[in-house]
Amino acid sequence: MSHLDTHDVLVIGAGASGLAAATALHAAGRDTVVLEARDRIGGRLHSAATAHPERGLDLGATWFWDGEERVRSLAARSDVETFDQHLAGDTLLQETTGVRRLAGNLIDAPSRRFAAGAQSITAALAAELPTGTLRLNTPVTALHPDRQTGGLTVLTPAGTLHAEHVVLALPPALALERIDFGDALPADLVRLAQSTPVWMGAVAKVVAHYPTAFWREEGLAGAAFSRTGPLQEIHDMSGPGGKPAALFGFAHARTVRPGFEQAVTTQLTRLFGPAAATPTAVHVQDWSGERWTSPSTVQHLADYSLFGHRLYQRPVLDGRLHWASTETATDHAGHIEGALAAGERAARAVLAAAADVADGLRAASR
Ligand SMILES: Cc1cc2nc3c(=O)[nH]c(=O)nc-3n(C[C@H](O)[C@H](O)[C@H](O)COP(=O)(O)OP(=O)(O)OC[C@H]3O[C@@H](n4cnc5c(N)ncnc54)[C@H](O)[C@@H]3O)c2cc1C
Repeated sequence: MSHLDTHDVLVIGAGASGLAAATALHAAGRDTVVLEARDRIGGRLHSAATAHPERGLDLGATWFWDGEERVRSLAARSDVETFDQHLAGDTLLQETTGVRRLAGNLIDAPSRRFAAGAQSITAALAAELPTGTLRLNTPVTALHPDRQTGGLTVLTPAGTLHAEHVVLALPPALALERIDFGDALPADLVRLAQSTPVWMGAVAKVVAHYPTAFWREEGLAGAAFSRTGPLQEIHDMSGPGGKPAALFGFAHARTVRPGFEQAVTTQLTRLFGPAAATPTAVHVQDWSGERWTSPSTVQHLADYSLFGHRLYQRPVLDGRLHWASTETATDHAGHIEGALAAGERAARAVLAAAADVADGLRAASR
């Protein structure tokens, strides 16, 4: 990269929000580059490979729900196969005194899943971008206004880039910890961003694979909630038609210590019986330890009322710096739907600013 690495827009982060912003900007004819710290796209959408070809295992987001129209229509327009979350069967409740079976599924709301894994949604967005738009392994380390050009300068270990606009498509608290803004940002915005929780950032997701969805044969939904842990809630995460068969649960990241996997298997066996004692694999994804998802403060951030805050809706630095992670969405914040909405909002703001400049130039030349 040279000092001439200049673009209309730089998007920081290739998760759902960043890719939604980038595809909208590209479709509107803007020269856009996406800078991504990891060696993969998707962010909190992360589908690991399984023994079943084309059936990714979701270690991040799993579901989308009725009314999440952006996700539904993106899947439809991109031919991303979806299927209904398995719901049928009874729920288990684990208490210190033992396990109770409760009639019906009391936990899972009707929802849909992605047959190839949730990351297929971000793969579909990335496929709409021209070659060269995405730069992986490119963490942004600093951002500051460029006094000479009036634009913004972005620093990465691979070099320096310049742009008219930048979209911050990563959790605000993470942006403030990983990117050096100098003293460029207003103090109230810095305080807000540092205090905004990262959705599911303090959570560990555990997926246990089995040869078959044996719990279904016993009339169980695979749904359980527990007052003892380590998993607090458990769901059926099998693929379409029950293949591959899997259960997943959430635990507080702080409970992930040596022996955690064994404690999970013991818990699943108490709940679902001896067949649960021998999973073919157990995956533990601790999102609190993910450098490009969670800041060091993640366990202490709990004020979810800050999601979608009005300060995130307004660009700063002369209208050139825009927020676009799911935490900044006014609707469906935390969800994939919120990430897509926030990305689209940032793209609209970039395009509106450019239109204002064009109007100003036209008025000045009259
Ligand atoms: C365990 C778990 C379960 C979930 N379940 C669901 C669910 O079932 N349904 C649902 O709708 N949502 C769910 N979510 C939430 C959903 O995953 C998020 O809403 C969505 O993926 C957020 O997208 P984003 O683009 O806002 O952020 P992210 O996906 O976090 O993307 C941010 C991107 O920025 C990159 N990045 C970070 N720092 C830098 C830097 N300095 N420079 C360059 N790049 C950087 C990151 O690597 C990442 O790719 C879940 C999340 C988790 C973790």
